[in-house]
Amino acid sequence: MAPNLEGHVALVTGASRGIGRAVALRLAAEGVKVAVNYNSGEAPAQQLVDKISAQGGEALPLQADVAEEAQVKSMVAQVRKQWGRVDILVNNAGIRKDRLLMRMTTREWDDPINVNLRGAFFCTKAVLPLMVRQRRGRIINMSSVVGVAGNPGQANYAASKAALIGLTKSVAKEVARRNITANALAPGYILTGMVEELSDDLKQMILDRVPMNRLGVPEDIAGVVAFLCTDEAGYITGQVIRVDGGLAI
Ligand code: NAP
Repeated sequence: MAPNLEGHVALVTGASRGIGRAVALRLAAEGVKVAVNYNSGEAPAQQLVDKISAQGGEALPLQADVAEEAQVKSMVAQVRKQWGRVDILVNNAGIRKDRLLMRMTTREWDDPINVNLRGAFFCTKAVLPLMVRQRRGRIINMSSVVGVAGNPGQANYAASKAALIGLTKSVAKEVARRNITANALAPGYILTGMVEELSDDLKQMILDRVPMNRLGVPEDIAGVVAFLCTDEAGYITGQVIRVDGGLAI
C-alpha cells in the first residue's frame, strides 16, 4: 500500500477490543494518529494506546457512549483540540441483544439500534463539518452479513445493520462532491468476543457455511478499512463490501 495515510487523523469507535482494536492498530501502523474510543473498557483502551505509542505511533484514548449525542460531540471536540482535524471515521462500536422477535423486549430492540445506528449517526454528524472543510474524508461503517441477509434471533441487530447500509449510501450521495467517501463493510463471522461466546456447535454450523472453511480474524477487516482510507480507494463510495470468506456467495 502506498504510504499516503501518514499524518491523517482517525476516530475509531469501539476500539478497545475486537475488530475496532485491529483497525486502530493497522491505521496507526500506516502513520495515522488514532483516537481510540471505548465505552467501558478503559484498561484495554489504555493498553492499546500504550502499544501504539511503543511502536512509534500516536493515539488518544477517549471514553464516550456513542449512543449519547453530547458525549459524541465532546469526544470529537477533544480529537479536534488534540490534532485539529478528522480524516477518517470508523463507525465500529456495536452490540447485539439476541432473542427471537416474539420474545424480544422493547429495551432489547432499542439497545442495538441506539448504539449501532444512532451512534453512527451522531459520530458522522459530528465529524462531517470538519471533513467538508478539509475537502477530504473517509467514513467506514461496520455493517454485517446479517444486515444483508437477516438472521433468526437477531431482528434488532439485523435491522440496525441494514439501516447502516441505507445511512452509508445516503451520506455517500450527500458528500461525494466534497471528496468524502462513505462505505460499509459487511463482515461475516470474525473471531472476537462477539463470536467466541457462541457455542462450539453453532461455530461449527457457521464454519460449514463458509467456503473458505475458517472464521475471519479482525485483521481481515482491518486491511480492507486501511485500503478504503487510501487515495487509491478514492473513487469507491456507497458500497457494501463483504469480507466473509465467501459466506454470502
Ligand atoms: P466486540 O469485540 O464485542 O467489541 C465491541 C466494541 O464496541 C468494544 O470496543 C466496545 O467497547 C464497543 N462499544 C460497545 N458499546 C459501545 C458504546 N455504547 N459506545 C462506544 N463503544 C461501544 O465486537 P466486534 O466483534 O469487534 O465487532 C465490532 C463491530 O463489527 C460491531 O459493530 C459488530 O456488530 C460488527 N461485526 C462483527 C462481526 C463479528 O463476527 N465479530 C461480524 C459482523 C459485524 P467497550 O468494551 O469499551 O464497552
